Amino acid sequence: MKHIAPENMDQISGIRLEEGDTFSFHCHPGLSCFNWCCRNLNLFLYPYDLLRLKQRLGITSDQFVDQYVDIVLRPSSHFPEVLLRMAENDEKTCPFLTDQGCSVYPDRPDTCRSFPVERGSLYDENAKKPKPIHFFRPPDFCLGQHEDKTWTIETWDEDQDARSYCQMTSRWAEVRRLFQTDPWGKEGPDGPRGKMAFMAAYNIDRFREFVFESSFLKRYKVKAARLKKIKNDEQELMKFGFEWIKFFVWGVKTKAIRLKKG
Ligand code: SF4
Ligand code: SF4
Repeated sequence: MKHIAPENMDQISGIRLEEGDTFSFHCHPGLSCFNWCCRNLNLFLYPYDLLRLKQRLGITSDQFVDQYVDIVLRPSSHFPEVLLRMAENDEKTCPFLTDQGCSVYPDRPDTCRSFPVERGSLYDENAKKPKPIHFFRPPDFCLGQHEDKTWTIETWDEDQDARSYCQMTSRWAEVRRLFQTDPWGKEGPDGPRGKMAFMAAYNIDRFREFVFESSFLKRYKVKAARLKKIKNDEQELMKFGFEWIKFFVWGVKTKAIRLKKG
């Protein structure tokens, strides 16, 4: 998800879609481009993508990170990002691509789910909340854009079962936005605090251990109802993790977490 300032709107390619605007698109195995878009990608994964994919594959977060991703720190960023590692074959295909299509389709990442639409958050100083914006941006080789089916953003999200992804990615975008400035000082993003924050975002299994099996609950006060909620629901635990990162790294107050006195 891109952070976009109003003055940079002109630099975004593609057709901007406002609420109610329609676009044509239909992807199906009968098209000669079928599966072309699932190779040689710079596919950034968001925290919720990892959660859904590791659940889908029945493996731990550690196993998923070891097997499937590369962690990169872009020069302008103060928080690492996670890239899906393409297969080591000539075409650098996505590791989840099969002849029949995507093998993780119900849990495919947010970017694949919204494709050929790209979402962003428009940050206007005068507005209280960022505004979601959308661009229709199929690559030239994508023949689905010439098909007859038409969609709005709303019907497309519904068809792609994208609502929970939109919600989680927007929450994550709020956290990421804070990292436009450097919170780490001399220790850098690879220091102890950086590692903890990365774990809370991208390694839900370790974060669960941290919350329930370390001294976390001796140091932090968390309401019983919230604890119950996060104990058995990984999506809720991830939302809690986002709040904890904001509190732990940036001191952003939250009703969910308080430091215990003494
Ligand atoms: S290139 Fe477009 S139409 Fe072709 S398979 Fe990919 S999304 Fe579908
Ligand atoms: S996850 Fe699925 S849809 Fe996304 S690039 Fe890989 S094969 Fe294609």
